[in-house]
Amino acid sequence: MKPTLIAVLLMLSGFSVFAEDQATYEKNLFNMFTTNICHEPLKAICADTLKIREKRAKKIKLMKEEIAELAKPNIQARVAKLPNPDDYFIFRRLFYTIYNSIQTSIIINQEVVKIAHKKYGNIDLNIMTPALEDRVKDFIYRSINESSIDESSKITFKNIIHEVELLTYGEFIEKIGMDENSIALQSPCGPSTLQNNAFAWTQENKKYVLVCPGWLISNGNIANEKERFHNVLMVLAHEMSHHIDSREYPKAYSGIKNCYKKHYASDLKPQGKDRRSCRWFPKSCPEKVVSSHLFELVADSWAFNVLDLHMKDENMGYLSGKKMIQTSMMKLCGSIDEGIHPSGDFRMEKMLTRHPGIRSNLGCSAHLGDSRPACNIK
Ligand SMILES: [Zn+2]
Repeated sequence: MKPTLIAVLLMLSGFSVFAEDQATYEKNLFNMFTTNICHEPLKAICADTLKIREKRAKKIKLMKEEIAELAKPNIQARVAKLPNPDDYFIFRRLFYTIYNSIQTSIIINQEVVKIAHKKYGNIDLNIMTPALEDRVKDFIYRSINESSIDESSKITFKNIIHEVELLTYGEFIEKIGMDENSIALQSPCGPSTLQNNAFAWTQENKKYVLVCPGWLISNGNIANEKERFHNVLMVLAHEMSHHIDSREYPKAYSGIKNCYKKHYASDLKPQGKDRRSCRWFPKSCPEKVVSSHLFELVADSWAFNVLDLHMKDENMGYLSGKKMIQTSMMKLCGSIDEGIHPSGDFRMEKMLTRHPGIRSNLGCSAHLGDSRPACNIK
C-alpha cells in the first residue's frame, strides 16, 4: 500500500485530528530551528517549543502517575507499621506525630525512587553523578574569579560554594534524621515528593542544594547526556548561588541593584507590602521592588554567567547555543512574577538573552530591541 493511500485511510477513519496535531508539531520543530533567537527570544524559547513541551509534560505526567501508583502499596504497608500517636499521652503523642511525619516523608522518597529505578533504570544515578557537583561548582568558581567583585568577597564566596552539599531530598532527610525543621521541607517537593523542583536549604549552618524525586524523574527522562547536563546546569548553578546571594552579602551586589533600579524597576511587579508602598510612596517603589527581587536576580545572574562559560568551553556557535538555551530555559515559559521571582519572560528577554557574553557566543548584535543595558554581575 502506498503511503498516501494509508494517509487517506487514516483521515477517513477519524484520524484527521492526529494528522493535524502532527502537522502543528512538525511546524513547531521547523520554527524551533528557524526563529532567530537574537531578535525574538521569547518566540524561540516558548512559542516554538510549545508542542515539544506539551509532549514531554504528558509523558512525564504519565510516568509520575505510574510511579506513584506502583509505589503506593509499599508506602501504605510501611506507614501502617509506624506507631499510632493516639495510643500515647500528650508529649509522647506529639513526639510520635512529628516522628511519623518525618518517617512518612522518608518512606515516600525511598519507595518512589526505588520504583523509578526499577521502571526507568538508574534514574537518579544518571544525574546525581559524583562529578556533577564538582562540575557545577567549578563553573561558579570561574564566574566568581572573572567577576569584578572585591577580592575578599571572591574568597568568601568560593569558600561558601565549596561547602554546599548537593543531595537528593531523600538522602537529606535520612542524613539529618529527626528534626522538626525538616517538616517544612515537605512543601518544596510536594506531598508526593514528585514536584519538579530543586532548592537551596540551610540547616544548622550547613548549606545544601536539594533535588526532589520529581526533578530527578523529569531530568532522567532526557536520554542524551549532553542535553541532560544543559537542563540541570542552569538550575543547580542558580540554587547554589542562593548561598552567596544578596541576602547575606548586600554590599557585593550594589552595582547590579542600582542598574535594575535605574533601568528595569517598572518591569518588576510589586506584591503585598511593596504594592502598598508603591501606591503611597511612588518614589520609593524602585528601591522596594528591586530589593524584593534582588536574591533571584543575583542567583540568575551567576547562573547566566555559568551558561556563558559553558557555551565558550564547548565552542557553541549559534545553532547549538540556541538549542542549549531553549532546553535550559523552556521550563520557565509562562511563570509569573509573584513579587520575588521575576516572570519567565523577564528572565529570558531582559536577562539571559541580553547577557553580552551569551549574545556574543550566539553572534547576535549588541542590543536587543531597546538600548537599555544588561544588568549583570560583571
Ligand atoms: Zn531562586
